[in-house]
Amino acid sequence: MNNKVEETLKRIFKFESFKNTVQKDAVEEICKKQNDVFVSMPTGSGKSLCFQLPAVLEENKVTLVFSPLIALIKDQIDHLQKLKIEADTINSKMGTADRQRVISNLRNVNTTIKLLYITPEQAATSSFRWLLSELKKYHKISYIVVDEAHCVSQWGHDFRPDYLKLGELREKYLDLPWIALTATANKNVIKDIKTYLKLKEPLLSFRISCFRENLYYDVCFDKNIRNSYENLKNFINECLVDDEHIPQNKRGCGIIYCRTREQTQTVATQLTKRGISTIAYNAGLKAKERMEVQNAWMDGQFRVITATVSFGMGVDKSSVRFVIHWGVPSSIPAYYQESGRAGRDGKPARCRIYYSNESKKSLDFILKNEITKAKSEDKRKKAKFALESFYKMVLYCEEVKCRHWIFAEFFDDTKPKCENRCDACRDKKKVEKELELFKSNTQE
Ligand code: ADP
Ligand code: MG
Ligand code: ZN
Repeated sequence: MNNKVEETLKRIFKFESFKNTVQKDAVEEICKKQNDVFVSMPTGSGKSLCFQLPAVLEENKVTLVFSPLIALIKDQIDHLQKLKIEADTINSKMGTADRQRVISNLRNVNTTIKLLYITPEQAATSSFRWLLSELKKYHKISYIVVDEAHCVSQWGHDFRPDYLKLGELREKYLDLPWIALTATANKNVIKDIKTYLKLKEPLLSFRISCFRENLYYDVCFDKNIRNSYENLKNFINECLVDDEHIPQNKRGCGIIYCRTREQTQTVATQLTKRGISTIAYNAGLKAKERMEVQNAWMDGQFRVITATVSFGMGVDKSSVRFVIHWGVPSSIPAYYQESGRAGRDGKPARCRIYYSNESKKSLDFILKNEITKAKSEDKRKKAKFALESFYKMVLYCEEVKCRHWIFAEFFDDTKPKCENRCDACRDKKKVEKELELFKSNTQE
């Protein structure tokens, strides 16, 4: 292997080895700077390193990274700065002086910033486009990276219209190597990424199967259990063993996704009453409070957090032992991504849905309403798609089929050997019975 790559991995990034062969292959290919590269690996497999390492190897040049959220950008920059890698951002929230400092560094004969993070909104501004052409003129750009590239696709679950404009940049800067990365992409999304980002052929793709072998999936039918909070408590106690010898912030912890603010409160209260320290996170909190809640969970003061789905993007806590959905998730890719926050350290973790007819009905109602409300054909199409995606998720819950296979089918992956890593494979008969009972219980 390239000595310089390996040396940088150890000395600068402080990693003993690559996390997986796909990461290694992608880094080596990207360093050649010959082709555009597409990387698709599940959350937590180490996509950032695929472009950060090549970026660090470039002298006097900067890698531009498009990333969807300022919060996500901040996390990455903090992490890089801890490793003494110069990384910065230009965004709408910055003061003029700060922005000037970054721009002068970039335009200096000796550019020391290795990675510059930018939101797609910022990328669309004329001042940024001017900066970009300047940098290009003086050969200051090493790579252009589009992180969370699925945001370009309307078929993804995080569509961001400003991502579409990045394609214009691709056409303008034909001779720079582009790198697109995403966790969740099926054929349609990959096609959109290629089309809208105008990636150059031959595009080299690096993919890891979506199978997360340390995650155990199951579905629990709310109607079939006597007391759902008791059941929840017992499940959590099973997942979280007491590990007193481990520092507080590294101990096992969990996330419970709820559909509404009220639920985050109720579930947190019920669990606290039952002796499990739980804190609630939702969009109703002020930015500062949200930060405090997140930190209280991150550093282990509270082991469990109840949250609406706005929580979690960019949260990199490796010791999450369970992710629970209190009610049905909105789609398969959303569920894959949210539940995928469990077990990032590779140790066993559990993902469970507490499925209820009420949660299904209320989401069904909201989504149908969106279709009726839609003011344009385009919006109607999207709303219909959201409803169809939701029905696939409902089917996931109301079918006795390997949960990992359902993900694999969705992402056009080969079917993995589940080997009892889900309830349907572990005890098919039991799940069938549960489902029957659920259906007879919910008949009107
Ligand atoms: P992704 O973007 O694919 O979700 P990240 O880039 O955020 O993943 O990385 C996930 C975690 O894996 C991070 O904590 C990161 O520090 C760690 N990681 C990345 N590369 C390696 C490696 N070669 N060895 C060990 N850990 C790694
Ligand atoms: Mg990432
Ligand atoms: Zn299975």
